[in-house]
Order: sequence, then structure tokens, then C-alpha cells
Amino acid sequence: MSSKTPAATATETPQASSPPRKIYPIIKYGDAVLEKPGAPVNLFDAELEELAEDMFASMYAAQGVGLAAPQIGKSLRFAVVDVTGGKNPEAKIVLANPEVTHAEGEVREEEGCLSIPGFRGYVVRPQFVTVKAQNVKGEPFEIRGENLLARAFCHEIDHLNGILFLQHLGMLKRDMIKRKIKKLRKQGEW
Ligand SMILES: [Zn+2]
Repeated sequence: MSSKTPAATATETPQASSPPRKIYPIIKYGDAVLEKPGAPVNLFDAELEELAEDMFASMYAAQGVGLAAPQIGKSLRFAVVDVTGGKNPEAKIVLANPEVTHAEGEVREEEGCLSIPGFRGYVVRPQFVTVKAQNVKGEPFEIRGENLLARAFCHEIDHLNGILFLQHLGMLKRDMIKRKIKKLRKQGEW
């Protein structure tokens, strides 16, 4: 999920204190990988830990608050979330095979997506969610999110099911965004 500030260029380097990280280009709307469900994660190895850190770095470089594996071309049920934008290392959340087990309340708020840059729309999401997932080592855990964190969990879990926020918009708004993207693509700007 994107934050409210405009996205930086994807070539930005991570902070000097962290080891060099691979900054993945983020796949844009129109690529089939974004609209198919990811495969369950079943190998919790060092490669997955690398992937998680590279995904955090790629997400921070793009000024996002969540990034799902399909957005970097990996069709896996794997996502990272940090609604503090890298300010608090303890806020880094890795979600492998996540599922919403409880949802409560409704909040209508504007939302954007790193795969649909430049477009935002109002989406109703639960105010509170409980998510069951595995961490990067495969250990099961449960986490509760409220407001922006609940929204980020729902947005990223949608990605793992091949669902984009566009699908939650009204038909008029959705069609308008799709038309504009089509035009941008024709102009070679998408
Ligand atoms: Zn997204």
C-alpha cells in the first residue's frame, strides 16, 4: 500500500547502517501476476529472510507502508508491512500465509497502491482486524491491527488473493482510473 506522500524513484539506496539491499522494481497494474492468487510459502529458509529484507528496502524506497510479493513478480503468499515507514524497526511486520480471522467496524478512507501509482480512491475497510500468519522463520503468530494498520493488512492480503483496491471502488471511479491508465500505457508512460 502506498503512503500519502508521492513515491520516490525506485533507485534510492537504503540507509548506510543496513547492508546493501536489492531494490526491486514494482510491477504495475496490467501485469497478470497482480491478479492471480499467490502460492503458499512452505520453505522458510535464509533466502526467504533475504527476500523479506529486500522487500522492506524496496517498500521504503517507494515510500510505501506495505508490499506484497506479487508486486515484485513473485506469486507467493508473502508480504511486508510497516506503517511507520522505517522509523521504528519494531514496526516491521513480515506476513507469510496471512489470513484475517476477525474483523470489526468500518472505516472509509482514501487508499493507494504502489502498483497503481498516481491514483487513489476511497475504500471501506474494517477498523480492527486480527490476522493469523507465520513469521519469516515459519513460526505462527497472531497480530491485531487498528485503522491504518488494519487497512494495510487487508490491502496486502488482498494482493495475495489477486485482488487490487480498484475492485473495492465504485464502478464509475474504477472505470475512470482504468481508462486513464490505458491512455498512459498508450503514451508509453505506464
Ligand atoms: Zn497495493
